[in-house]
Parts: sequence; C-alpha cells; structure tokens
Amino acid sequence: MKISPELHAYPWTSHIRNNANSYLMAGRANVFIDPGHLDAFPILEEKLEADGYPLGSIDLVIATHMHPDHMEAMAAFLETSALMTMHTEAHKMLKEHGEYFFSLMGLGPPRWRSDFLLREGGLTVGDEELEVLHTPGHSPGSICLYWPRLKALFSGDLLFAGGIGRVDLPGGDAPALIASLDKIAHLDVELLLPGHGPVLQGAAEVRQNLLGIKSQIAGFV
Ligand SMILES: [Zn+2]
Repeated sequence: MKISPELHAYPWTSHIRNNANSYLMAGRANVFIDPGHLDAFPILEEKLEADGYPLGSIDLVIATHMHPDHMEAMAAFLETSALMTMHTEAHKMLKEHGEYFFSLMGLGPPRWRSDFLLREGGLTVGDEELEVLHTPGHSPGSICLYWPRLKALFSGDLLFAGGIGRVDLPGGDAPALIASLDKIAHLDVELLLPGHGPVLQGAAEVRQNLLGIKSQIAGFV
C-alpha cells in the first residue's frame, strides 16, 4: 500500500495469526521497518519486489523492538548488504533472553545482527532525518520513529489506532508505557504508522486517538 512516493505500508491483515505491519521508507536510502515473522516473510518479499524493492535494494532494517513478530525476519537480511539496527536495550535483551523468549513462542533462536545501536536522538538515513524516541513499556528497548518531513510516527507496539501495546510480556512496564505516551504526545503527527492494525491519517484523528486512549487509561489508574 503506497501512502506516498516515499512511504509504503505493508499491513498484516490476517485475523488467524499474528504478525507485525511493515513499512518502507523509499529514497536515497531505502529503510525497512519491522520485517515481521520469518515464515511470513516470503509473502512480504514478493510484495516488496512487485513494488520495485528487491531485498538487495534495502539499505537499512530497523526493528522497533525485539519481539519476534517484529524482527524475526531480520534473519532474511543476514546475507544481504543491508545494515540492521535496534535500540541498545532491545539488542541487550535479545542477546541475553532472546533464545528463551523465542522458545516460549515455539520459535528457534533469533538470528540477527545489529550493525550499530540506536539511542534516543536524531538518525540520518539518506536524505531524510528521523528522530528516535526511546518509548519503553511494551518492551524495554521499544522505540518510536518520528519523521518530521511527513509528520509521520512509526509507533511500534506503543500506540495503535484504538489501543496500546500489552505490558504483560517479560520486560513490560505499565507506568513506563504511560510515560512513553506522554513523551510522544507533543509531536506534530498527521500519520500514525503502528506496529499492528490500521494506519491512521489526519492530525485531528491522530490527536483524538491519543486523547481517547489517555482518558481510558486515566479511568483505570
Ligand atoms: Zn511487541
């Protein structure tokens, strides 16, 4: 699904099994965000090829966090020239607990590489500037990526259209998730690109979504 010439969304639409949405930033550097589960990746690879982006054209793969439904398919890029990255805490957790965590889901050990590690702050990819926001709560090394030029937010599993990420998995932290929502609340977002579920377009819709979720949370705490 082409959102704009420089942004493609690959939403996961199966209701039978879980996988993440994937996104491609196309430009001088092609950046692929959250490649998803490895066994579902051939479908995605076909779609990327059909859109003119074979695996060899991807320069950078970013995982929003270390959960297998978002990053297991980093394994498919090991033999390509793509660089791979995630937040430093996501890398640490994957290294220390990844094998156990993946085994809980019936998966083999994670196969990935972090060529460099992300921290909060600016990230230049080709001609584009991104802002990396460390937004723990769903997972310790969860990040959101803000793309100011498009006013787009890749929100990973922090924030969805109509919901937030679960906090009951290892490393989950409800107060941290609430603080992370506050952290992204000041951003000027017209396009919410979540890790699961539909993309949300329009500044008013995005704002209303966040306000609605925050008021629901306020009713619980
Ligand atoms: Zn997750």
